[in-house]
Amino acid sequence: MIGGPDQNRALREALALLKRCGVEKPEEIDLELIAWHAFKALVQERPLSHCNARVVRGHLRSLITVASGTSRGRRRFNIAHEMGHLALHPNMNQLALCSVKEGFWQYRARPEEAEANFFAAELLMPEPLFSPRCQAEKPGFDLIENLAGEFATSLTATALRYVEHGPWDCCAVWSQNGNIHWISTSESFRWKVREGRLGPSTYALDFTENPGEATLLQKEVAAPQWLESDRGVARVREQSRPIGAEGLLTLLWVEADPGEEWWGEEQDEPDPEHFTPDGRRKRW
Ligand SMILES: [Zn+2]
Repeated sequence: MIGGPDQNRALREALALLKRCGVEKPEEIDLELIAWHAFKALVQERPLSHCNARVVRGHLRSLITVASGTSRGRRRFNIAHEMGHLALHPNMNQLALCSVKEGFWQYRARPEEAEANFFAAELLMPEPLFSPRCQAEKPGFDLIENLAGEFATSLTATALRYVEHGPWDCCAVWSQNGNIHWISTSESFRWKVREGRLGPSTYALDFTENPGEATLLQKEVAAPQWLESDRGVARVREQSRPIGAEGLLTLLWVEADPGEEWWGEEQDEPDPEHFTPDGRRKRW
């Protein structure tokens, strides 16, 4: 896509940086140390009212400021995002970047913002370290919560990474008050998830309406509750976690029916104007 984000370059630069710093384990991804070593950038926390983070580039050193009062995982993502700008966008006016508080997960389609998010995800959860840890026999939030602890990342960012690198046909669905805001799928995921309102018999909607009584366990659910077609589907399972005051993150796992050949339906083209948090999948 002309003028779109250059994902490959962002991933390459993040991995090269980790290699230069000799990182071999998740606990060695010390962002303050890497920021200083690679960019002579200091990190500070301040109350920020108009953005989540910002970077000021100086001649001899730079200053990354991240909003105070955020969770550890989100703080780390914000720092890594600004490091992405330092690594990838040396000629851009940094004050023009990240200047609008659109919400961490709602960057519009400015390619620099998506590139900085790609860089951040790769820096925090590098594929060579992250993918092998996704291969557990049972998928689920227990595994994702363990990964979030090990990599010191937010549950949402970790779930998106898991969807991308895990061995399952799965997708992440973000809803608020029962309305789906975005959907992020794995490359192999070939079903179309229903948009709009959560299905009336989903456990996710049950949680939204009765959070005190609903289950956070993984449950099997009828395919049409989530998918536009149940063709080729043997089983659908869902599991949710509340995020913040209003958000609900749901993971869907679809087991394909081994008796049905791949039927070759085409997915919709992604909407180039909109990106999910990782800048990858596309609907709002
Ligand atoms: Zn930015």
